[in-house]
Amino acid sequence: MSLLQAPLSLPASTFQRGYCHCSMCRRATGGPFAFLMRVDEAALEWTVSPPAVYRSSPIAERGFCPDCGSPLFLRYDDDNRIRLTGGSLDHPERVRPQYHYGVESRPPWMDCGQGLPEQETEESF
Ligand SMILES: [Zn+2]
Repeated sequence: MSLLQAPLSLPASTFQRGYCHCSMCRRATGGPFAFLMRVDEAALEWTVSPPAVYRSSPIAERGFCPDCGSPLFLRYDDDNRIRLTGGSLDHPERVRPQYHYGVESRPPWMDCGQGLPEQETEESF
């Protein structure tokens, strides 16, 4: 199921995207980091229910899918762009991160485990 139609038809050079290791993103995603893409919210079209929003800090709010709970974005109060979660895209492999942010909170083991044993998922949806 597609949660949104993101502006992936735009040249990748038109929006910034990177890893955020800050403790707020870690908690919001439940993972060791967030992969965020800063885009103009007006360029997005939500394909299912409009996102639900909660205040995640004194300076920002976060959106999530009210049907499945997927984290969808981070929106700072003083920025008209939102940071989309790259993992919510149907094809995150098409958008390559450019930088790391919040590295003071990055766990020292954070390297995505290159070299560990690998296995493909057994389910498909
Ligand atoms: Zn963050």
